[in-house]
Amino acid sequence: MFNLFNKQSNRRAIHNIFSNNLLIQQRNLSFTFKLQQENKKTKMSYDSTYQNNNRGGYERGGYSRGGDRGGYNRGNDRGGYNRGGNRGGFGRSQPINVTPPVWSEVTLEPFTKDFYNESPSVASRSNEDVAAFRKENEMVIKGDNVCKPITSFDEAGLPENLLQKVKSQGYDAPTGIQCQGWPMALSGRDMIGIAKTGSGKTVSFGLPAIVHILAQPKLKRGDGPIALVLAPTRELANQIEGEIRKFLINGLNVTTLYGGAPKGKQIRDLQNGCEIVVATPGRLLDFVKSGVTNLNRVTYLVLDEADRMLDMGFEDQLREILSFIRPDKQTLMWSATWPKEVRALASDFMASDAIQVNVGSEGLQASKTITQKFEFCSRFEKKDVLIKHMETIFDGAEDQKDLKIIIFTSTKSMCDDLTSDLRYKGFGAGCLHGDKSQSERDWVLRSFKQGTLNVLIATDVAARGLGMYKKKNEWIKKKERIMKLHDDVFVFLKFSVID
Ligand code: ADP
Ligand code: MG
Repeated sequence: MFNLFNKQSNRRAIHNIFSNNLLIQQRNLSFTFKLQQENKKTKMSYDSTYQNNNRGGYERGGYSRGGDRGGYNRGNDRGGYNRGGNRGGFGRSQPINVTPPVWSEVTLEPFTKDFYNESPSVASRSNEDVAAFRKENEMVIKGDNVCKPITSFDEAGLPENLLQKVKSQGYDAPTGIQCQGWPMALSGRDMIGIAKTGSGKTVSFGLPAIVHILAQPKLKRGDGPIALVLAPTRELANQIEGEIRKFLINGLNVTTLYGGAPKGKQIRDLQNGCEIVVATPGRLLDFVKSGVTNLNRVTYLVLDEADRMLDMGFEDQLREILSFIRPDKQTLMWSATWPKEVRALASDFMASDAIQVNVGSEGLQASKTITQKFEFCSRFEKKDVLIKHMETIFDGAEDQKDLKIIIFTSTKSMCDDLTSDLRYKGFGAGCLHGDKSQSERDWVLRSFKQGTLNVLIATDVAARGLGMYKKKNEWIKKKERIMKLHDDVFVFLKFSVID
């Protein structure tokens, strides 16, 4: 599979197939495992039924007993959305293959999603002033009746204790995306917020999420989250969680769910009740379909870095997750870029009166303060060229301890190869890609941040979501794939063949 993956030119298509297959294989594995357990108890064979019809096999077989106890579906069959939802619990024998509710047949409890009270100072601002502010901040607005931007934290209309939390962070003022994004998100409308990486988008959806949750009935035992944030990678999920955690008030809880990590802690967090869940699509779907959690209470849905989720082939999983969430939820999409694939997704996922703000340009733009250098060479020369550049950089550095170099590769195997080659040449190199365990990833990142490793080699699993590290006025911004060596010199390295 890996050879195939590397050789095919249409990598994305292969990737989709690959990840789907993997998922199916994983599910089959867990099905088979459970079947074997069940067979041991009942001495019956479900194999043939299962192979002919995955779902039917279980429903007819002994497994439906588990379903009775935790079954959202059954509650649903009886017409009781709430009852079903509340009972959809965490029983030891979890139902498997929970299917999405038929929303047209479900009576939905009404909920509140409009919390925005425009402050008098904002209301009194003239349209000309608003237009001037938007122009100055490079904001473009799409949609009807978009609220005016705020210009200070005090104007955001946040509850006092939340406002204090924000002020205690020491931020001077809301960023552009926050000025316009907060009122939009708090107004309860479906919205799209586009702004460059590092512009504070997490807080833009995180604080309205908290306001939204505080206005909903408290979680009951067995309830899933009220605010769900979907993110493409576990690193990003962790970063979002960390950012939201800074603002938690009134005993609210947040947790992250992602693959490649043990399920136990994630399940326990869910069982203890989490109003906010930040998740990568695969693990979340796994938990939802096996009845570990449910999305019946989700009324605030965030898709963060949707463009990247599409790049990584999550579209089908996103659509499936969406089918488990009530249709009248508030949906918010946040991204640094707005390519046409994401626009198509947005038009499917969002209400027709969705509103949008773009801060800065829609496309990915190179920073004007960065000098980029390109060197073209054949694929056979590139390793030597890279090492030559690395040696020049290291020889020219005043203090090698402060050097930080990030190299991106297109494949995991190249990532591994290059790491061993550079280590062999004496560079302190660490590598980061999807096959590394969470503890290895954490170790590499920590060492890189602390400076015990100078070189980080990564596939684009890490292309976003690592944030920025500031060290002696040197900013390393992963997204733009840059490294600042001196005050005005940056080096850009991408270790792959550009066709
Ligand atoms: P994005 O999602 O747009 O890439 P993040 O939400 O990750 O950006 O924010 C980047 C950093 O900026 C975070 O460390 C965050 O704490 C900080 N930040 C957020 N809002 C502000 C603000 N108003 N002023 C200064 N820093 C902020
Ligand atoms: Mg972000």
